[in-house]
Amino acid sequence: MASLNDIRRTFLDYFVRNGHAEVDSSPLVPRNDPTLMFTNSGMVQFKNVFTGVETRDYDRATTSQKCVRAGGKHNDLDNVGYTARHHTFFEMLGNFSFGDYFKSDAIPFAWELLTRDFGIDRDRLLVTIYHTDDEAASIWKKVAGLPDERIIRIASDDNFWRMGPTGPCGPCTEIFYDHGPQIAGGPPGSPDEDGDRFIEIWNLVFMQNEQLADGTMRPLDMQSIDTGMGLERIGALLQGKHDNYDTDLMRALIEASAHATSTDPDGPENIHHRVIADHLRSTSFLIADGVMPSNEGRGYVLRRIMRRAMRHAHQAGAKDLVMHRLVPALVQQMGQHYPELGRAKALIEETLRGEEERFRSTLDRGLRLLEEEVAKLPEGGTLGGDAAFKLYDTYGFPLDLTQDALREKGLSVDNDGFEAAMSEQKSRARAAWAGSGEQADAAIWFDLAERHGTTEFLGYDTETAEGQV
Ligand code: ATP
Ligand code: MG
Ligand code: MG
Ligand code: MG
Repeated sequence: MASLNDIRRTFLDYFVRNGHAEVDSSPLVPRNDPTLMFTNSGMVQFKNVFTGVETRDYDRATTSQKCVRAGGKHNDLDNVGYTARHHTFFEMLGNFSFGDYFKSDAIPFAWELLTRDFGIDRDRLLVTIYHTDDEAASIWKKVAGLPDERIIRIASDDNFWRMGPTGPCGPCTEIFYDHGPQIAGGPPGSPDEDGDRFIEIWNLVFMQNEQLADGTMRPLDMQSIDTGMGLERIGALLQGKHDNYDTDLMRALIEASAHATSTDPDGPENIHHRVIADHLRSTSFLIADGVMPSNEGRGYVLRRIMRRAMRHAHQAGAKDLVMHRLVPALVQQMGQHYPELGRAKALIEETLRGEEERFRSTLDRGLRLLEEEVAKLPEGGTLGGDAAFKLYDTYGFPLDLTQDALREKGLSVDNDGFEAAMSEQKSRARAAWAGSGEQADAAIWFDLAERHGTTEFLGYDTETAEGQV
Protein backbone atom coordinates (compact mmCIF):
# COMPACT_ATOMS: atom_id res chain seq x y z
CA MET A 1 0.00 0.00 0.00
CA ALA A 2 1.32 3.40 -0.94
CA SER A 3 1.87 5.63 2.09
CA LEU A 4 1.00 9.34 2.12
CA ASN A 5 4.73 9.98 1.78
CA ASP A 6 4.78 7.83 -1.39
CA ILE A 7 1.68 9.48 -2.83
CA ARG A 8 3.13 12.96 -2.33
CA ARG A 9 6.23 11.81 -4.23
CA THR A 10 4.21 10.30 -7.09
CA PHE A 11 2.28 13.55 -7.52
CA LEU A 12 5.38 15.77 -7.57
CA ASP A 13 7.26 13.41 -9.90
CA TYR A 14 4.35 13.34 -12.35
CA PHE A 15 4.42 17.11 -12.73
CA VAL A 16 8.22 17.31 -12.78
CA ARG A 17 8.12 14.85 -15.70
CA ASN A 18 5.70 17.25 -17.35
CA GLY A 19 8.06 20.20 -17.18
CA HIS A 20 7.21 21.65 -13.77
CA ALA A 21 9.80 22.97 -11.30
CA GLU A 22 9.48 21.34 -7.90
CA VAL A 23 9.23 24.19 -5.40
CA ASP A 24 9.33 23.86 -1.59
CA SER A 25 6.30 24.61 0.53
CA SER A 26 6.29 28.17 1.78
CA PRO A 27 5.90 28.84 5.53
CA LEU A 28 2.48 28.89 7.16
CA VAL A 29 2.83 32.58 7.95
CA PRO A 30 2.57 34.39 4.64
CA ARG A 31 5.40 36.86 4.08
CA ASN A 32 4.29 40.48 3.88
CA ASP A 33 0.63 39.68 3.58
CA PRO A 34 -1.47 41.13 6.37
CA THR A 35 -4.68 40.20 4.52
CA LEU A 36 -4.11 36.54 5.20
CA MET A 37 -3.83 34.90 8.59
CA PHE A 38 -2.20 31.63 7.52
CA THR A 39 -1.22 30.07 4.23
CA ASN A 40 -4.45 28.36 3.23
CA SER A 41 -3.60 27.02 -0.22
CA GLY A 42 -0.81 26.31 -2.65
CA MET A 43 -1.23 29.52 -4.62
CA VAL A 44 -0.41 31.86 -1.74
CA GLN A 45 3.34 31.87 -2.37
CA PHE A 46 2.65 32.58 -6.05
CA LYS A 47 0.08 35.31 -5.55
CA ASN A 48 2.26 38.05 -7.02
CA VAL A 49 3.36 35.86 -9.90
CA PHE A 50 -0.27 35.46 -11.02
CA THR A 51 -0.85 39.21 -10.87
CA GLY A 52 2.36 39.93 -12.78
CA VAL A 53 4.03 41.88 -9.98
CA GLU A 54 6.74 39.24 -9.64
CA THR A 55 8.43 36.86 -12.07
CA ARG A 56 10.22 33.56 -11.52
CA ASP A 57 12.66 31.66 -13.68
CA TYR A 58 10.04 28.96 -14.31
CA ASP A 59 6.52 29.19 -15.70
CA ARG A 60 5.33 25.79 -14.40
CA ALA A 61 5.64 24.71 -10.79
CA THR A 62 4.53 21.89 -8.52
CA THR A 63 4.38 21.90 -4.72
CA SER A 64 3.15 20.15 -1.65
CA GLN A 65 2.04 23.11 0.43
CA LYS A 66 1.49 23.17 4.18
CA CYS A 67 -1.92 24.73 4.79
CA VAL A 68 -3.80 25.81 7.89
CA ARG A 69 -7.49 26.63 7.74
CA ALA A 70 -8.42 27.84 11.18
CA GLY A 71 -9.48 31.42 10.59
CA GLY A 72 -10.59 33.84 7.91
CA LYS A 73 -12.38 32.97 4.70
CA HIS A 74 -11.33 29.33 4.89
CA ASN A 75 -11.93 28.04 8.42
CA ASP A 76 -12.36 24.33 9.06
CA LEU A 77 -11.75 24.28 12.81
CA ASP A 78 -15.36 23.39 13.56
CA ASN A 79 -15.38 20.61 10.97
CA VAL A 80 -12.61 18.67 12.68
CA GLY A 81 -14.02 15.67 14.50
CA TYR A 82 -17.27 15.97 12.56
CA THR A 83 -16.44 15.27 8.91
CA ALA A 84 -14.31 12.57 7.29
CA ARG A 85 -12.49 15.08 5.09
CA HIS A 86 -11.44 18.19 7.01
CA HIS A 87 -8.32 19.06 8.96
CA THR A 88 -7.06 22.35 10.33
CA PHE A 89 -3.63 21.40 8.95
CA PHE A 90 -3.34 19.55 5.66
CA GLU A 91 -1.04 19.28 2.69
CA MET A 92 -2.23 20.67 -0.61
CA LEU A 93 -0.66 19.13 -3.69
CA GLY A 94 -0.64 21.50 -6.62
CA ASN A 95 0.48 22.25 -10.14
CA PHE A 96 0.74 25.79 -11.42
CA SER A 97 1.06 27.51 -14.75
CA PHE A 98 2.04 31.16 -14.89
CA GLY A 99 0.76 32.37 -18.22
CA ASP A 100 1.85 29.08 -19.79
CA TYR A 101 -0.75 26.32 -20.24
CA PHE A 102 -4.44 26.84 -19.44
CA LYS A 103 -7.65 24.79 -19.24
CA SER A 104 -7.04 22.51 -22.20
CA ASP A 105 -3.86 21.14 -20.60
CA ALA A 106 -4.73 21.40 -16.92
CA ILE A 107 -7.76 19.10 -17.25
CA PRO A 108 -5.92 16.34 -19.16
CA PHE A 109 -3.01 16.43 -16.67
CA ALA A 110 -5.40 15.88 -13.77
CA TRP A 111 -7.39 13.18 -15.53
CA GLU A 112 -4.30 11.27 -16.61
CA LEU A 113 -2.71 11.32 -13.16
CA LEU A 114 -5.92 10.21 -11.44
CA THR A 115 -7.05 7.50 -13.83
CA ARG A 116 -3.75 6.24 -15.26
CA ASP A 117 -1.00 6.76 -12.68
CA PHE A 118 -3.22 6.45 -9.60
CA GLY A 119 -5.52 3.95 -11.29
CA ILE A 120 -8.76 5.40 -9.92
CA ASP A 121 -12.00 3.97 -11.30
CA ARG A 122 -13.23 6.62 -13.75
CA ASP A 123 -16.87 5.66 -13.22
CA ARG A 124 -16.65 6.96 -9.68
CA LEU A 125 -15.44 10.41 -10.70
CA LEU A 126 -17.62 13.41 -11.41
CA VAL A 127 -16.84 17.09 -11.80
CA THR A 128 -18.36 20.49 -11.20
CA ILE A 129 -17.78 23.56 -13.33
CA TYR A 130 -18.72 27.22 -13.00
CA HIS A 131 -22.18 27.50 -14.54
CA THR A 132 -21.13 29.68 -17.47
CA ASP A 133 -17.93 27.80 -18.31
CA ASP A 134 -18.90 25.96 -21.52
CA GLU A 135 -15.26 25.64 -22.47
CA ALA A 136 -14.45 23.58 -19.38
CA ALA A 137 -17.52 21.43 -20.02
CA SER A 138 -16.46 20.59 -23.53
CA ILE A 139 -12.87 19.81 -22.49
CA TRP A 140 -14.17 17.41 -19.82
CA LYS A 141 -16.38 15.74 -22.39
CA LYS A 142 -13.58 15.35 -24.85
CA VAL A 143 -10.81 14.33 -22.46
CA ALA A 144 -12.69 12.16 -20.01
CA GLY A 145 -15.80 11.24 -21.95
CA LEU A 146 -17.92 12.24 -18.98
CA PRO A 147 -21.68 12.25 -19.61
CA ASP A 148 -23.54 15.52 -19.04
CA GLU A 149 -24.99 14.41 -15.72
CA ARG A 150 -21.50 14.00 -14.31
CA ILE A 151 -20.47 17.53 -15.33
CA ILE A 152 -22.42 19.56 -12.82
CA ARG A 153 -22.87 23.29 -13.36
CA ILE A 154 -22.66 25.33 -10.16
CA ALA A 155 -23.53 29.01 -9.97
CA SER A 156 -22.26 29.65 -6.47
CA ASP A 157 -18.90 30.77 -5.10
CA ASP A 158 -17.98 27.11 -4.63
CA ASN A 159 -16.90 27.22 -8.26
CA PHE A 160 -15.39 30.64 -8.22
CA TRP A 161 -12.27 30.35 -6.09
CA ARG A 162 -10.92 33.20 -3.98
CA MET A 163 -7.94 33.15 -1.64
CA GLY A 164 -9.43 35.86 0.57
CA PRO A 165 -11.09 39.27 0.22
CA THR A 166 -8.43 40.38 -2.27
CA GLY A 167 -6.03 38.64 -4.63
CA PRO A 168 -6.08 36.52 -7.77
CA CYS A 169 -9.20 34.45 -8.38
CA GLY A 170 -11.19 32.75 -11.06
CA PRO A 171 -13.74 30.11 -12.01
CA CYS A 172 -12.81 26.55 -11.13
CA THR A 173 -13.65 22.96 -11.84
CA GLU A 174 -13.69 20.48 -8.98
CA ILE A 175 -13.22 16.73 -9.16
CA PHE A 176 -15.28 14.56 -6.82
CA TYR A 177 -15.10 10.88 -5.94
CA ASP A 178 -18.21 8.91 -5.11
CA HIS A 179 -17.46 6.73 -2.09
CA GLY A 180 -20.76 4.89 -2.54
CA PRO A 181 -24.40 4.87 -1.42
CA GLN A 182 -23.59 3.34 1.98
CA ILE A 183 -22.41 6.83 3.01
CA ALA A 184 -24.84 9.70 3.56
CA GLY A 185 -24.69 12.73 1.30
CA GLY A 186 -25.73 13.91 -2.12
CA PRO A 187 -23.79 15.04 -5.20
CA PRO A 188 -22.42 18.59 -5.34
CA GLY A 189 -25.14 21.16 -5.86
CA SER A 190 -27.81 18.98 -4.23
CA PRO A 191 -29.47 19.89 -0.93
CA ASP A 192 -27.51 17.23 1.01
CA GLU A 193 -24.15 17.91 -0.62
CA ASP A 194 -22.50 18.44 2.76
CA GLY A 195 -22.47 14.75 3.51
CA ASP A 196 -19.30 12.76 2.97
CA ARG A 197 -20.41 10.43 0.19
CA PHE A 198 -19.15 12.62 -2.65
CA ILE A 199 -15.76 13.93 -1.61
CA GLU A 200 -14.06 16.77 -3.41
CA ILE A 201 -10.51 15.69 -4.10
CA TRP A 202 -9.08 18.24 -6.51
CA ASN A 203 -9.84 21.81 -7.44
CA LEU A 204 -8.49 23.28 -10.68
CA VAL A 205 -8.68 27.07 -10.70
CA PHE A 206 -8.56 29.05 -13.91
CA MET A 207 -6.82 32.17 -12.64
CA GLN A 208 -7.93 35.08 -14.75
CA ASN A 209 -9.10 37.84 -12.40
CA GLU A 210 -7.91 39.84 -9.47
CA GLN A 211 -10.25 40.82 -6.68
CA LEU A 212 -9.42 44.36 -5.52
CA ALA A 213 -9.91 45.93 -2.12
CA ASP A 214 -12.64 48.29 -3.45
CA GLY A 215 -14.82 45.28 -4.28
CA THR A 216 -14.26 45.32 -8.02
CA MET A 217 -12.55 42.66 -10.09
CA ARG A 218 -10.06 43.23 -12.88
CA PRO A 219 -9.03 40.78 -15.61
CA LEU A 220 -5.41 39.65 -15.30
CA ASP A 221 -3.00 40.13 -18.19
CA MET A 222 -2.19 36.45 -18.33
CA GLN A 223 -4.26 33.32 -17.90
CA SER A 224 -2.84 30.94 -15.34
CA ILE A 225 -3.56 27.66 -13.61
CA ASP A 226 -3.66 26.96 -9.88
CA THR A 227 -4.69 23.56 -8.62
CA GLY A 228 -5.04 22.03 -5.19
CA MET A 229 -5.60 18.45 -4.12
CA GLY A 230 -5.68 17.41 -0.47
CA LEU A 231 -3.01 14.75 0.11
CA GLU A 232 -5.03 13.21 2.92
CA ARG A 233 -8.14 12.93 0.72
CA ILE A 234 -6.43 11.37 -2.28
CA GLY A 235 -4.50 9.22 0.20
CA ALA A 236 -7.66 7.89 1.81
CA LEU A 237 -9.06 7.02 -1.58
CA LEU A 238 -5.90 5.24 -2.75
CA GLN A 239 -5.62 3.35 0.52
CA GLY A 240 -9.18 2.07 0.10
CA LYS A 241 -10.50 4.18 2.98
CA HIS A 242 -13.30 6.65 3.13
CA ASP A 243 -12.03 8.74 5.99
CA ASN A 244 -8.88 10.92 5.95
CA TYR A 245 -8.24 9.91 9.53
CA ASP A 246 -7.86 6.26 8.49
CA THR A 247 -4.82 6.95 6.31
CA ASP A 248 -1.49 5.52 7.49
CA LEU A 249 -0.12 8.87 8.65
CA MET A 250 -3.16 10.07 10.59
CA ARG A 251 -3.63 6.60 12.01
CA ALA A 252 -0.10 6.62 13.45
CA LEU A 253 -0.90 9.87 15.27
CA ILE A 254 -4.24 8.57 16.52
CA GLU A 255 -2.47 5.51 17.89
CA ALA A 256 0.13 7.69 19.59
CA SER A 257 -2.67 9.67 21.20
CA ALA A 258 -4.42 6.50 22.33
CA HIS A 259 -1.15 5.19 23.74
CA ALA A 260 -0.41 8.42 25.61
CA THR A 261 -3.86 8.38 27.20
CA SER A 262 -3.90 4.60 27.79
CA THR A 263 -7.09 4.20 25.79
CA ASP A 264 -8.27 2.24 22.78
CA PRO A 265 -7.79 4.15 19.48
CA ASP A 266 -11.17 2.85 18.30
CA GLY A 267 -13.03 3.06 21.59
CA PRO A 268 -15.45 5.81 22.62
CA GLU A 269 -12.47 8.19 22.87
CA ASN A 270 -11.85 7.92 19.13
CA ILE A 271 -13.33 11.33 18.38
CA HIS A 272 -10.93 12.91 20.86
CA HIS A 273 -7.97 11.13 19.29
CA ARG A 274 -8.96 12.42 15.87
CA VAL A 275 -9.10 15.99 17.10
CA ILE A 276 -5.83 15.60 19.00
CA ALA A 277 -4.08 14.14 15.93
CA ASP A 278 -5.29 17.02 13.80
CA HIS A 279 -4.48 19.74 16.30
CA LEU A 280 -1.07 18.22 16.97
CA ARG A 281 -0.20 18.78 13.34
CA SER A 282 -1.46 22.34 13.08
CA THR A 283 0.09 23.48 16.35
CA SER A 284 3.45 21.80 15.72
CA PHE A 285 3.79 23.15 12.20
CA LEU A 286 2.74 26.64 13.30
CA ILE A 287 5.35 26.64 16.07
CA ALA A 288 7.97 25.35 13.63
CA ASP A 289 7.14 28.33 11.43
CA GLY A 290 7.64 30.80 14.26
CA VAL A 291 4.15 31.33 15.71
CA MET A 292 4.05 31.31 19.51
CA PRO A 293 0.94 31.14 21.68
CA SER A 294 -0.23 34.59 22.73
CA ASN A 295 -3.41 36.54 23.38
CA GLU A 296 -3.80 38.18 20.02
CA GLY A 297 -3.69 37.61 16.32
CA ARG A 298 -2.05 34.48 14.97
CA GLY A 299 -0.69 33.54 18.37
CA TYR A 300 -4.19 33.48 19.82
CA VAL A 301 -5.46 31.22 17.07
CA LEU A 302 -2.57 28.88 17.90
CA ARG A 303 -3.43 29.05 21.60
CA ARG A 304 -7.08 28.32 20.85
CA ILE A 305 -6.17 25.21 18.84
CA MET A 306 -3.74 24.05 21.55
CA ARG A 307 -6.29 24.49 24.31
CA ARG A 308 -9.01 22.74 22.33
CA ALA A 309 -6.66 19.79 21.91
CA MET A 310 -5.86 19.83 25.62
CA ARG A 311 -9.52 19.68 26.54
CA HIS A 312 -9.96 16.70 24.24
CA ALA A 313 -6.97 15.01 25.91
CA HIS A 314 -8.65 15.64 29.23
CA GLN A 315 -11.91 14.17 27.92
CA ALA A 316 -10.02 11.12 26.71
CA GLY A 317 -9.04 10.60 30.33
CA ALA A 318 -5.44 11.83 30.25
CA LYS A 319 -3.86 11.90 33.69
CA ASP A 320 -0.59 13.50 32.59
CA LEU A 321 0.41 16.11 30.06
CA VAL A 322 -0.17 14.63 26.61
CA MET A 323 0.53 16.85 23.65
CA HIS A 324 4.31 17.15 23.84
CA ARG A 325 4.63 13.37 24.08
CA LEU A 326 3.11 13.01 20.62
CA VAL A 327 5.69 15.15 18.85
CA PRO A 328 8.17 12.29 18.18
CA ALA A 329 5.45 10.35 16.30
CA LEU A 330 4.75 13.40 14.18
CA VAL A 331 8.42 14.00 13.42
CA GLN A 332 8.78 10.37 12.49
CA GLN A 333 5.88 10.58 10.04
CA MET A 334 6.54 13.95 8.48
CA GLY A 335 10.07 15.04 9.42
CA GLN A 336 11.69 13.73 6.31
CA HIS A 337 9.67 15.81 3.88
CA TYR A 338 9.48 18.79 6.26
CA PRO A 339 12.91 19.05 7.94
CA GLU A 340 11.85 22.22 9.80
CA LEU A 341 9.79 19.92 12.01
CA GLY A 342 12.84 18.04 13.23
CA ARG A 343 14.81 21.26 13.67
CA ALA A 344 12.07 22.76 15.83
CA LYS A 345 11.29 19.55 17.74
CA ALA A 346 12.61 20.74 21.11
CA LEU A 347 10.87 24.10 20.78
CA ILE A 348 7.58 22.45 19.83
CA GLU A 349 7.76 20.05 22.77
CA GLU A 350 8.70 22.79 25.21
CA THR A 351 5.94 25.12 23.99
CA LEU A 352 3.25 22.43 24.12
CA ARG A 353 4.38 21.27 27.54
CA GLY A 354 4.47 24.80 28.97
CA GLU A 355 1.03 25.68 27.63
CA GLU A 356 -0.53 22.43 28.81
CA GLU A 357 1.03 22.76 32.24
CA ARG A 358 -0.32 26.28 32.62
CA PHE A 359 -3.76 25.52 31.22
CA ARG A 360 -4.32 22.29 33.12
CA SER A 361 -5.07 23.73 36.54
CA THR A 362 -7.65 26.17 35.23
CA LEU A 363 -8.95 23.59 32.75
CA ASP A 364 -9.97 21.20 35.52
CA ARG A 365 -11.70 23.91 37.50
CA GLY A 366 -13.30 25.47 34.42
CA LEU A 367 -14.69 22.14 33.29
CA ARG A 368 -16.20 21.63 36.72
CA LEU A 369 -17.92 25.01 36.48
CA LEU A 370 -19.08 24.17 32.98
CA GLU A 371 -20.53 20.88 34.19
CA GLU A 372 -22.47 22.64 36.93
CA GLU A 373 -23.86 25.13 34.43
CA VAL A 374 -24.74 22.41 31.93
CA ALA A 375 -26.61 20.48 34.61
CA LYS A 376 -28.97 23.45 34.92
CA LEU A 377 -29.73 23.56 31.20
CA PRO A 378 -32.63 21.85 29.47
CA GLU A 379 -32.00 19.58 26.50
CA GLY A 380 -30.76 21.63 23.54
CA GLY A 381 -30.33 24.64 25.83
CA THR A 382 -28.09 27.69 25.61
CA LEU A 383 -25.35 28.57 28.07
CA GLY A 384 -25.64 32.15 29.29
CA GLY A 385 -23.13 34.76 28.08
CA ASP A 386 -22.05 35.56 31.64
CA ALA A 387 -21.04 31.97 32.34
CA ALA A 388 -19.17 31.71 29.02
CA PHE A 389 -17.41 34.96 29.84
CA LYS A 390 -16.43 33.76 33.27
CA LEU A 391 -14.93 30.64 31.71
CA TYR A 392 -13.04 32.88 29.33
CA ASP A 393 -11.92 35.52 31.77
CA THR A 394 -11.15 33.43 34.84
CA TYR A 395 -10.30 30.01 33.43
CA GLY A 396 -8.80 30.89 30.04
CA PHE A 397 -11.44 29.10 27.97
CA PRO A 398 -11.53 30.64 24.50
CA LEU A 399 -15.16 31.04 23.43
CA ASP A 400 -14.77 28.44 20.69
CA LEU A 401 -13.47 25.89 23.23
CA THR A 402 -16.65 26.31 25.25
CA GLN A 403 -18.73 26.03 22.09
CA ASP A 404 -16.83 22.88 21.10
CA ALA A 405 -17.44 21.33 24.53
CA LEU A 406 -21.16 22.15 24.43
CA ARG A 407 -21.67 21.00 20.87
CA GLU A 408 -20.87 17.40 21.87
CA LYS A 409 -23.91 17.59 24.14
CA GLY A 410 -26.17 19.33 21.63
CA LEU A 411 -25.95 22.63 23.53
CA SER A 412 -24.85 26.10 22.46
CA VAL A 413 -23.66 29.46 23.85
CA ASP A 414 -25.39 32.82 23.91
CA ASN A 415 -22.73 34.56 21.80
CA ASP A 416 -24.33 38.00 22.00
CA GLY A 417 -24.48 37.66 25.77
CA PHE A 418 -20.79 36.77 25.76
CA GLU A 419 -19.93 39.83 23.68
CA ALA A 420 -22.04 42.00 25.98
CA ALA A 421 -20.24 40.67 29.06
CA MET A 422 -16.94 41.34 27.34
CA SER A 423 -17.72 44.96 26.48
CA GLU A 424 -19.13 45.54 29.95
CA GLN A 425 -15.80 44.48 31.39
CA LYS A 426 -14.01 46.77 28.96
CA SER A 427 -16.02 49.78 30.00
CA ARG A 428 -15.50 48.97 33.67
CA ALA A 429 -11.77 48.88 33.01
CA ARG A 430 -12.02 52.15 31.10
CA ALA A 431 -13.86 53.82 33.95
CA ALA A 432 -11.20 52.65 36.39
CA TRP A 433 -8.51 54.12 34.17
CA ALA A 434 -10.35 57.39 33.83
CA GLY A 435 -10.53 57.63 37.61
CA SER A 436 -6.80 57.25 37.91
CA GLY A 437 -6.10 60.70 36.47
CA GLU A 438 -4.30 59.42 33.40
CA GLN A 439 -7.10 60.15 30.95
CA ALA A 440 -4.99 61.13 27.97
CA ASP A 441 -2.95 57.94 27.99
CA ALA A 442 -5.99 55.85 28.71
CA ALA A 443 -7.89 57.30 25.80
CA ILE A 444 -5.07 56.48 23.44
CA TRP A 445 -4.62 53.00 24.86
CA PHE A 446 -8.28 52.08 24.63
CA ASP A 447 -8.52 53.57 21.21
CA LEU A 448 -5.69 51.34 20.05
CA ALA A 449 -7.05 48.32 21.83
CA GLU A 450 -10.44 48.78 20.30
CA ARG A 451 -9.11 49.29 16.83
CA HIS A 452 -6.96 46.23 17.23
CA GLY A 453 -9.93 44.19 18.38
CA THR A 454 -12.04 45.14 15.42
CA THR A 455 -9.36 45.17 12.79
CA GLU A 456 -10.28 43.63 9.48
CA PHE A 457 -7.55 41.02 9.68
CA LEU A 458 -9.08 37.75 8.56
CA GLY A 459 -10.27 35.58 11.35
CA TYR A 460 -9.05 37.85 14.09
CA ASP A 461 -12.15 37.25 16.13
CA THR A 462 -13.42 39.93 18.43
CA GLU A 463 -12.49 37.79 21.40
CA THR A 464 -8.79 37.94 20.62
CA ALA A 465 -7.56 40.89 22.56
CA GLU A 466 -7.91 40.89 26.30
CA GLY A 467 -8.59 39.11 29.50
CA GLN A 468 -6.72 35.87 29.02
CA VAL A 469 -5.21 33.76 31.75
P1 ATP B 1 -14.50 21.39 0.88
O1 ATP B 1 -15.60 21.93 0.00
O2 ATP B 1 -14.49 19.91 0.97
O3 ATP B 1 -14.46 22.08 2.20
P2 ATP B 1 -12.81 23.29 -0.41
O4 ATP B 1 -13.60 23.55 -1.65
O5 ATP B 1 -12.97 24.26 0.70
O6 ATP B 1 -13.11 21.80 0.14
P3 ATP B 1 -10.42 24.11 -1.81
O7 ATP B 1 -10.32 25.47 -1.26
O8 ATP B 1 -10.93 23.96 -3.18
O9 ATP B 1 -11.25 23.16 -0.79
O10 ATP B 1 -8.99 23.40 -1.64
C1 ATP B 1 -8.44 22.50 -2.61
C2 ATP B 1 -8.37 21.07 -2.09
O11 ATP B 1 -7.74 20.99 -0.81
C3 ATP B 1 -9.72 20.42 -1.89
O12 ATP B 1 -10.23 19.90 -3.09
C4 ATP B 1 -9.40 19.32 -0.88
O13 ATP B 1 -8.88 18.18 -1.53
C5 ATP B 1 -8.32 19.94 -0.04
N1 ATP B 1 -8.84 20.51 1.22
C6 ATP B 1 -9.49 21.69 1.38
N2 ATP B 1 -9.78 21.93 2.66
C7 ATP B 1 -9.28 20.88 3.35
C8 ATP B 1 -9.25 20.55 4.73
N3 ATP B 1 -9.75 21.37 5.65
N4 ATP B 1 -8.66 19.39 5.10
C9 ATP B 1 -8.13 18.55 4.18
N5 ATP B 1 -8.13 18.82 2.85
C10 ATP B 1 -8.70 19.96 2.44
MG1 MG C 1 -13.89 24.05 2.51
MG1 MG D 1 -15.56 22.72 -2.01
MG1 MG E 1 -12.86 23.48 -3.66
